[in-house]
Amino acid sequence: MSTDERARAWVDVSPSALQENLQTIRKSVGPEVRILPMVKADAYGLGVKEAFGALEPMDPWGYGVAAVEEGLELREIGASRPILICSPVPMESYIDAVESGLTPSVSDLDGLLALRTACRDLGRRARFHLEIDTGIGRAGLDWRRVAEWGPKLDDIVDSSLIWEGCYTHFHSADGLDEGSLDDQWRRLQETVARLPSRPGASFVHACNSPGALRRADLAGDMVRPGIFLYGGVAGAGLPAPTPVASLRARIVLLKEASPGSTVGYGSTHTASGPERWATAAIGYGDGLPRLLGNLGEGVVRGKRAPIIGRISMDVTVLDVTGVPDTGLGDVVTFFGRSEGEEISVEEVADHAQTINYEILTGLTRRVPRIWTDDVGY
Ligand SMILES: *Cc1c(COP(=O)(O)O)cnc(C)c1O
Repeated sequence: MSTDERARAWVDVSPSALQENLQTIRKSVGPEVRILPMVKADAYGLGVKEAFGALEPMDPWGYGVAAVEEGLELREIGASRPILICSPVPMESYIDAVESGLTPSVSDLDGLLALRTACRDLGRRARFHLEIDTGIGRAGLDWRRVAEWGPKLDDIVDSSLIWEGCYTHFHSADGLDEGSLDDQWRRLQETVARLPSRPGASFVHACNSPGALRRADLAGDMVRPGIFLYGGVAGAGLPAPTPVASLRARIVLLKEASPGSTVGYGSTHTASGPERWATAAIGYGDGLPRLLGNLGEGVVRGKRAPIIGRISMDVTVLDVTGVPDTGLGDVVTFFGRSEGEEISVEEVADHAQTINYEILTGLTRRVPRIWTDDVGY
């Protein structure tokens, strides 16, 4: 195996940019508000171990994950802060959650009972946060039905359970219309006001990245930023983050294409005159979206070059006729910064008809994530 992680395709990830973006969130909400960086899905595809290493000195309140297994991994890495599981927990996973001192979110009374049973079986206590569905629909207890579940909740919570907080999740914080944020926040407040008065009812949170940047007045006691930390634009009209990740690949073949030559599956590009083609060692098997074929660009020697033909599993061809000094072994940047030129993750997402989140989490195992602030190209 090659020891050079930059031999083929890789992602450069900047820990200081991640820290800067967290600072931006902190500035937006103020020093009193707790911060729960979301590190689910392997820190949005960039590597949870290194993300944890960069976030830990920033002194966050805790970490947010989606799966119990992600919480266990964080504990193994050495995380001792609270770890909130921000997604409904499968019934059979509560026992692992309690054993590792994770904090489940509770979305229904059966889940709360299962958590209590796990605590009793293990002879341990567990914290939990109550998720309240104020419109997202995918998780949480229905705000409209608090009269039904509120009183039952009080019967279930015994001394083995520490009810720590209540939260909701915004469904449209990325859009310009803030009306739904006000609606959801009001529903959360109304629901909490009707709950038994326990400490848990006084620690409320709602904001994802766009919420924290757009509406610091709705920050409550904690914010849960994700995408913005990892360099993704959080929504319309919001400040751009410092770019964190750059997807790059080496040019492994150069070809003088004579007029009429075709490239790739389906031969969807034909050289109209003499063209210079560069084969980059990256394809959809690395997470470069196939929809970028004949549409996207890569940066070579500080200049944009078009992707020609369809993207293959392992390679992608660019027309570098306009970058005559291109050489074998040159680096192509598919998103991120290079020599003063930049392709945003959002530009790639637009071409791929998706969102920045899916571009980052869609990077595959084949691409090493190299965490460094010392990139010389
Ligand atoms: C993923 C997630 C977040 C973070 O959202 P971003 O849009 O990435 O900032 C916050 N809260 C919950 C419940 C989530 O699932």
